[in-house]
Amino acid sequence: MFKLVCGAGNEDVESVKRLVFVYASAGAKIFDISARREILESAKLGQKISGADDSHFCVSIGIKGDPHIRKASVDFSKCIKCANCFKSCQSDAIDSSIIVDDKKCIGCGACFVKCPTKAIHPVERDVNYREILPYMVQNGVEILELHIMGHDREDLNKKWQVINECNPKYASICIDRENFGNIEVLERILEMIKYRKPYTTIIQADGIPMSGADDSFKTTLQAVAMAEIIQNAKLPVHIMISGGTNSKTAELAKLCNINYWGIAVGSWARKIVKPYIGIPDFWENTEVQKEAIMIAKQLILSCN
Ligand code: SF4
Ligand code: SF4
Repeated sequence: MFKLVCGAGNEDVESVKRLVFVYASAGAKIFDISARREILESAKLGQKISGADDSHFCVSIGIKGDPHIRKASVDFSKCIKCANCFKSCQSDAIDSSIIVDDKKCIGCGACFVKCPTKAIHPVERDVNYREILPYMVQNGVEILELHIMGHDREDLNKKWQVINECNPKYASICIDRENFGNIEVLERILEMIKYRKPYTTIIQADGIPMSGADDSFKTTLQAVAMAEIIQNAKLPVHIMISGGTNSKTAELAKLCNINYWGIAVGSWARKIVKPYIGIPDFWENTEVQKEAIMIAKQLILSCN
């Protein structure tokens, strides 16, 4: 099962429509989108244009402290206009005047580490999850995913409760090991799935979030390692590998005897079609569409 991660923070409606069109045409089955009504509508439109009728939508929200709910913000009193941030942004979210487009910023953090004066920094932006999550399920979203890379247990419990009350087909937990050791990762998961029916939970085993900038085995190593930790725990869950995933992930996972349910690819999947979906006449240019679909198909095939 291939999941395209459009980006929990990607609120660019046109980009999401094009991404979903390309990857649905290529055979992707699950689309991970941000918790915004206009983004769901845009994703559905992309699916409809592709002709695919078996796509499933997953909506992601994060707890406080999770990188997926942050946006870049610039303190111009500290900015020396070096343009490092502008050059490092893969999402074209910063223009040459160092203005950040919130709709395009996915909170990846690439710009933060390049800034010599710490002028560009993360700002958290939460959603009204009590309102948006029921709306999403009522409008066809089958998977609600909670990213739990933060220390705020109260926020985690509140959001997890709302997700369960919405009764989606699947609830998904996205977790990595950056902030916690293996023991706490498993403790958190066990606590969260305690009352859930077997195999109605997906564990999105995140290697290093938003790190799939290249196609090497090294980049995907942590994602496969995280999946192995979940597999070894023998939990009644589906394992989705993510966070540094690329065309090498399935090969490495098979070599390591990981029985994964799916592979979620974000950064790498978006990067390889970016030159095609970014052109102004994309919807009129069927040759460009075909090339993008062919590239997406190769990635999906490699993830089987
Ligand atoms: S580099 Fe990442 S965090 Fe910075 S503006 Fe671009 S998408 Fe946002
Ligand atoms: S990297 Fe920092 S100092 Fe340089 S342009 Fe961006 S915000 Fe300004």
